[in-house]
Amino acid sequence: MKRILISALLGGAMLSLAGTPAVAKVTDKDIENDAATTGDVVSWGLGTRGQRYSPLAKINTKNVGDLVPVWSFSFGGEKQRGQESQPVVHNGKMFVTGSYSRIFALDAKTGKKLWQYEHRLPEGIMPCCDVVNRGAALYDNLVIFGTLDAQLVALDQDTGKVVWKEKLDDYAAGYSYTAAPIIAKGLVLTGVSGGEFGIVGRVDARDAKTGKLVWSRPTVEGHMGTKDGKDNGISGTTNASWPGDLWKTGGSATWLGGTYDPETGLAYFGTGNPAPWNSHLRPGDNLFSCSTVAIDVATGKIVWHFQGTPNDGWDFDGVNEFVTYKTKDGKVLGGKADRNGFFYVLDAKSGKFQRGFPFVRKITWASGLDENGRPKFDAGNRPGDPAKGDGKKGSSVFAVPSFLGGKNQMPMAYSPDTGYFYVPANEWGMEIWNEPVSYKKGAAYLGAGFTIKTIDDSYIGALRAVDPVSGKIVWEVKNNAPLWGGVLTTKGGLVFWGTPEGYLKAADAKTGKEVWQFQTGSGVVAPPITWDQDGEQYIAVASGWGGAVPLWGGDVAKKVNYLNQGGSMWVFKLHKNGK
Ligand code: CA
Ligand code: CA
Repeated sequence: MKRILISALLGGAMLSLAGTPAVAKVTDKDIENDAATTGDVVSWGLGTRGQRYSPLAKINTKNVGDLVPVWSFSFGGEKQRGQESQPVVHNGKMFVTGSYSRIFALDAKTGKKLWQYEHRLPEGIMPCCDVVNRGAALYDNLVIFGTLDAQLVALDQDTGKVVWKEKLDDYAAGYSYTAAPIIAKGLVLTGVSGGEFGIVGRVDARDAKTGKLVWSRPTVEGHMGTKDGKDNGISGTTNASWPGDLWKTGGSATWLGGTYDPETGLAYFGTGNPAPWNSHLRPGDNLFSCSTVAIDVATGKIVWHFQGTPNDGWDFDGVNEFVTYKTKDGKVLGGKADRNGFFYVLDAKSGKFQRGFPFVRKITWASGLDENGRPKFDAGNRPGDPAKGDGKKGSSVFAVPSFLGGKNQMPMAYSPDTGYFYVPANEWGMEIWNEPVSYKKGAAYLGAGFTIKTIDDSYIGALRAVDPVSGKIVWEVKNNAPLWGGVLTTKGGLVFWGTPEGYLKAADAKTGKEVWQFQTGSGVVAPPITWDQDGEQYIAVASGWGGAVPLWGGDVAKKVNYLNQGGSMWVFKLHKNGK
């Protein structure tokens, strides 16, 4: 009797398994191989190295003119603000985050909505630079994204039901979250936003399946890290690069998230400005602000750091993504187009400076880099010390780039075919001056005033192919408005990027010749992706103008105030199916 029951149960179990085909869950291997597998996009950066390169060539320089929209999906509601999200695609489902901490699951082929989740946001959130979100991470059967009130939410990919939710930090103290989390060795790695409010930057690693905190590594020198609930050593040496107590509210926000190279085992996080902006209040290098910080994922300790702007006085957040790549002789290097206008090439294992060069036409705050990559400051281009004048306002300077940077949040791409980085760059400057300021929880902590201005009437943005060996700009496509969207490059010899004027564009990766464009109806400030499904290659990008430029852009914001907001997903394929 018992035996019959058991076999009946087993039979039933087998039947139900056969009835619902097993859905592959996202594994560490899937994530490590993401760049090479074309049927899915399971990480921010199309691979955690962040190259944004696809080996797909079905859409190529010869047939890209046949690229047409397949579907469009509106994020709906009245919440049409900046859409900076990179979608991820798995099992034929697309997961894309929207402004105001929303996430949508869509049928990747048809755009049909499967579910949507709207995070309940409290009053009093303090996002500095629009209510954006840059994307979700996938792991197991979960889709994980961060919210503007500094929480991390993991949802079931099939149902949209919350599986776990963790508080990253206190939104009332100025913390928020806008980056796409990344996954490394089963850990979900996140940074924090809030550098304009005197928060303390850090990188957290959590068990991706449960949300349980594994380690935490502060990115302001002097703060204690933790691992498995125990002290795990101080970051650097207390007061070595910070005077007095300023390190306790030292900023250095890791607001753009990070990249991870499985070969080095290191996660690379960029860090923002030291707080406050008034650099005269904090003599010293103010580590680890405006740096790339390489953290051993296994230990939660900093292995190396490289600082682009020591004692920053211009809000040159060094958050920009560190994209690793392999040279022909097998060396692992990383490239970074810093907000301060310099492009850095570093050894990805040791952090050793290889070379650096400007990727913008004009830089005023430094005359160049020394043999270690440290900037040669122009003392006259640092905003003056208010304490040396009337005590209320220091002397104003005109500095280039502006604090919105030679490059900002929009991620670049790297092609192993051409060996070039494709950098969305901007040419602009700013009037900037310093004022006295003291820290107050939850209040802006700047001690500076500013106005962003154009430096060339004909263009601000320029998509540039940058050769990391020669330091040359090989080609560029200029753009009237500042570029604010990311880049995708493919084996098909193409580079895709969006413009605030609403176009998704494609150019020949070798020459920069524009070969295709499509008007999406609102500004594109997000990175495009590509994947293939049932034999066809798809391209996708979110559209919706917003982000920091309309809020902080000064004269440039006025110049582009004709641009309309939006919120939608666009997907394209060849209408002749590649024939
Ligand atoms: Ca993939
Ligand atoms: Ca900043």
